Amino acid sequence: MSSELSYVQPTANSPWGTYLSQVDRVVPYLGGLARWAETLKRPKRALIVDVPIEMDDGSIAHFEGFRVQHNMSRGPGKGGVRFHPDVTLEEVMALSAWMTVKTAAVNLPYGGAKGGIRVDPKKLSMKELEKVTRRYTSEIGIIIGPHSDIPAPDVNTNAQIMAWMMDTYSMNVGGTATGVVTGKPLHLGGSLGRVKATGRGVFVTGREAARRLGLDLRGARIAVQGFGNVGSVAAELFAEAGAKIVAVQDHTGTIVNENGLDLAGLVPASRTEGGAVSFKGGEVIDNEDFWKVACDILIPAALEGQITAERAQKTKARLVLEGANGPTVPTADDILAERGVLVVPDVICNAGGVTVSYFEWVQDFSSFFWDEDEINVRLDRIMMNALNNIWDTADRHKITLRTATYAVACERILMARQERGLYP
Ligand code: NAD
Repeated sequence: MSSELSYVQPTANSPWGTYLSQVDRVVPYLGGLARWAETLKRPKRALIVDVPIEMDDGSIAHFEGFRVQHNMSRGPGKGGVRFHPDVTLEEVMALSAWMTVKTAAVNLPYGGAKGGIRVDPKKLSMKELEKVTRRYTSEIGIIIGPHSDIPAPDVNTNAQIMAWMMDTYSMNVGGTATGVVTGKPLHLGGSLGRVKATGRGVFVTGREAARRLGLDLRGARIAVQGFGNVGSVAAELFAEAGAKIVAVQDHTGTIVNENGLDLAGLVPASRTEGGAVSFKGGEVIDNEDFWKVACDILIPAALEGQITAERAQKTKARLVLEGANGPTVPTADDILAERGVLVVPDVICNAGGVTVSYFEWVQDFSSFFWDEDEINVRLDRIMMNALNNIWDTADRHKITLRTATYAVACERILMARQERGLYP
């Protein structure tokens, strides 16, 4: 049966095209469950909404909003909300599918979902941002909920936006529903450790991968693309472990220092309008030259499709840690494998965020909150167990960590699908 959908036209390297190719690669390892594999290539539900707001100058603006629930065989949908001018239905579909794989890879009782608004939030006032968030939440309110689909932060969304989403949903249902979103502020049912969880997960999986490669983190040179929530936290944890952050790229440009960038100065500078390149402790270089910087570890932590075939040829890194979702296109993946560069794929590498989101959701239901040490210890344990299991699978079948992660995850998803059976 064909997996072409009439409503998207993916290409080989586009997000949904990349995802489909990742699924095709795992099918040979699914045994009898392969008969259910087509289910992975079709989102369960995709909602497109109009988000109209009155701007500060009195004009009316309309934005496209999406929420896609890719698969809910193992539990409610889970996945972030992205505010970005390039958001499309196809991108949100791919991001939702990667959430299905990710939650199954770390064995959380969730399916996969994702949302987004095609908007540049940097061009909105706070009031306009709040209106966009609230109207979007109201529009997708018919499919989200603590037991059906739980949004969280992603690119350009944060705890304040989650607070507005929680409040809007709560107003509509007539009672405070903290469990409808995760990544909330601490005093509104948020969890300790959530802000740093994704970067911490990148560090935990990276530390284990480096150990297995015999790569000493002390003195290791690291290049980081994307210096927001994920990239900056991962960089800080690696620096604490003795590594040198030799290059950072964000939306403003690329800055390098072979002796290591001083994060105490770079992190606050990157939060200003001038971005990373406003930091004076390094040299600004051409963006394309970021990919050939001398480094041991490369951390893509910005957007999809960044590691192209050409950039995969250039990189000097031995280890790639995918903090971003979908940063490596399939042809680049093959080149990295041929060149002996180890890739810890997004669907396990950045799963720390959804893992602590799960802790937040559990804490909200029980109204009993854990301390940060407990959260970090549990996060470490879940990530390490998942990674070790994936590594064993990769060794057993002689496949990449990405295909091994899909093998572990897709078996869980399709087993659930088979056991539930088809309704009606
Ligand atoms: P963020 O908004 O906090 O940061 C995004 C960063 O990417 C910023 O530094 C921005 O300047 C940079 N960037 C944007 N466009 C760029 C470009 N064209 N070139 C270089 N840099 C660019 O977002 P985030 O939450 O850190 O998310 C980053 C990635 O991690 C995304 O792929 C996201 O889906 C993924 N992720 C995030 C979480 C989470 O918990 N926040 C969890 C899992 C995966």
